[in-house]
Amino acid sequence: MEYRQTPIIQIKNQLLEERGVELLIKREDLNHPYVSGNKWWKLKYNLEEAINQGHNTLLTFGGAYSNHIYATAAAAHESGLKSIGIIRGEETMPLNATLSFVKRIGMKLHYMSREIYRTKDDPNFNQKLIDQFGKFYLIPEGGTNVFAIKGCEEWADILNNESDFDYLCLPVGTGGTIAGMINVLNNKKIIGFSSLRGGAFLEDETRRRVNHKRDNWRIETEYHFGGYGKVKKELVDFIFEFERTYQTPLDPVYTAKMMYGIFELIKAGRFKHQSKILALHTGGLQGRAGFNF
Ligand SMILES: *Cc1c(COP(=O)(O)O)cnc(C)c1O
Repeated sequence: MEYRQTPIIQIKNQLLEERGVELLIKREDLNHPYVSGNKWWKLKYNLEEAINQGHNTLLTFGGAYSNHIYATAAAAHESGLKSIGIIRGEETMPLNATLSFVKRIGMKLHYMSREIYRTKDDPNFNQKLIDQFGKFYLIPEGGTNVFAIKGCEEWADILNNESDFDYLCLPVGTGGTIAGMINVLNNKKIIGFSSLRGGAFLEDETRRRVNHKRDNWRIETEYHFGGYGKVKKELVDFIFEFERTYQTPLDPVYTAKMMYGIFELIKAGRFKHQSKILALHTGGLQGRAGFNF
């Protein structure tokens, strides 16, 4: 896949000055027009593995607005692979922007009732998919597996070489990205911001995925704004204000919630004086089309 170098920008305002902290944003949303942000890194070694195993089709799962579905369709398209997207819920017409894009670039869409979708990790489910679709390389919902974590470790190495920082902040969905960061960034503090309500289980899941037992990381669970994919007026206002002030667009599902949380923690004095925070812009801007604001 094509990769574009991405800049690190600095945010400046009075709050940061008062608290004596520096805030940098790694604009990884700019790394690829369609396979953007962390999804590029999560897919990189999955594509390699699929091709090495002799597959010509990727199959994955997601909701109708999923960044992962969008990125997988685009990555497959660019790599000359076919793709199948199993979409949670019934088909609704007209297709939303995410699904019409992926369909246009060749992803075969298959809709599944929520009830059946929920059983997708059952042992015999895979065989049913093979019976229906033939041979494929399976990428789990959200894209997190060992190959995804490997890609995020590589990204962490780059961040480490490129910038000097004390804290790494990033949004968390399934926790694959933060696992890769934790595996590499031993000497940093890592703070994840859960995009879902009740994300406390994410710490246990992440602990199972990481290769060392250090406690230089945690996941904040207070900034979900009602749950996954949910927004409140306060968050929407924040997105517009942030964009106006810093010329940086945020997505409402992940990066806006993280950035809001970072500012709250700065206000509360939770970052050390004279420290540097690097926040990851993990992309996801395609999803903004699904929101009415
Ligand atoms: C998928 C996604 C995440 C979550 O990544 P995980 O590895 O599942 O935790 C964060 N930000 C954006 C923009 C995403 O699309």
